[in-house]
Amino acid sequence: MSRHVIVTGASRGIGAAVAQFFISEGDAVVALSRSGSAPQGCAMSLAVDVASSESVNEAVKTAVAANGPVDVLIANAGITRDGLAMRMSDEQWRAVLGTNLDGAFYCARAVIPSMIRARSGRIIFMGSVSPFYGVPGQANYAAAKAGLVGLARSLAREVASRSITVNVVAPGFIETEMTAELGSTSDEMTALIPMGHMGSVADIAGVVGFLASNPASYITGQVLAVDGGLAMGL
Ligand code: NDP
Repeated sequence: MSRHVIVTGASRGIGAAVAQFFISEGDAVVALSRSGSAPQGCAMSLAVDVASSESVNEAVKTAVAANGPVDVLIANAGITRDGLAMRMSDEQWRAVLGTNLDGAFYCARAVIPSMIRARSGRIIFMGSVSPFYGVPGQANYAAAKAGLVGLARSLAREVASRSITVNVVAPGFIETEMTAELGSTSDEMTALIPMGHMGSVADIAGVVGFLASNPASYITGQVLAVDGGLAMGL
């Protein structure tokens, strides 16, 4: 049966691969991003800044009116604004927390009522191994991604009795535009990965797809690292 899937940050990178995964499963995918661009085959694509709760509420209302209750939310939109903490501006801090943490919360809050009515649902937050590893220059990003774990686990307890699961996928170092900005730091990071290479967007999409599938219905409140072994044991 076709599911109603909302994917934020679906215009490129991991989000686009996740959207494509669900499209290939025959699901109705609603893609949200600031640019509003989306992979071919999406049921709907909306230009939304997830850091604005009003815009998120409006978008989810539009998606539900067109496709019915939301079955799966992938809160994937994310940005980096790197810099050493002592020189980090308020704007750098707020921008990253606003998109990566506030945005994920706004999206989850907006979809939960329709999931509760349907007595089922899957919420998947795109985290990172960065809060477990510690990354110099990414205090804002690591704090936001750490926040997603507390958010997911608290929400998971709030909605578990309605058969709604809430989990975090924590990618390691994945080839996208976000990591392309790193230049030579990229080689240093790759050297730390036990599997010896960066991950692909398909590696993440497959795991997201699993967490949204029936065999994963008893998994909730978990953080699943997909990182080639980078952060194991942390
Ligand atoms: P990209 O920079 O390639 O894509 C980011 C996506 O988020 C784009 O679709 C962008 O679209 C969207 N986006 C950014 N800000 C907003 C906003 N305020 N509102 C709505 N959409 C927004 O990143 P990746 O694909 O690499 O990363 C995706 C997620 O995975 C992020 O949460 C990231 O933190 C996480 N991650 C990535 C890793 C990696 O190695 N690549 C490692 C660990 C985690 P647009 O510009 O059109 O708004």
